[in-house]
Amino acid sequence: MKGMNNISSINQKWVREPTPDPLWLKMVSHEATHINHFKQAGGKHSYLVHFLKQYIMYGGHDNVPEEKEADRNRNKFQRFNNFVEKNYGKNCLKSLLSSDVSDGQKIRQIDVMFKEWKAIEKENNI
Ligand SMILES: [Zn+2]
Repeated sequence: MKGMNNISSINQKWVREPTPDPLWLKMVSHEATHINHFKQAGGKHSYLVHFLKQYIMYGGHDNVPEEKEADRNRNKFQRFNNFVEKNYGKNCLKSLLSSDVSDGQKIRQIDVMFKEWKAIEKENNI
């Protein structure tokens, strides 16, 4: 796979320390979606009012469109993480994030893996 050798050599340098695990990242990928919702609504309080209206209109938390969007992003992260673990090894993201390499290098590595994953998702029409 393209970029694989490059990643493996860096992977050996990664330091293993306690860091956010994929479950935490999965939760963040849901919650981070709401940051955009706050911005769109013009702030947290405006969003809260909007959310309460939606909550009543759609009959519950899980049916609110913004919650569905956040869940889709969480599922997207889960698919990406599954791809990374399958192709680059278990706890790859965790190891990368806790490593001593620069943030720029971490971002570039994640970008390589993300582009490979996106290409596969596109091939499979996901
Ligand atoms: Zn939510």
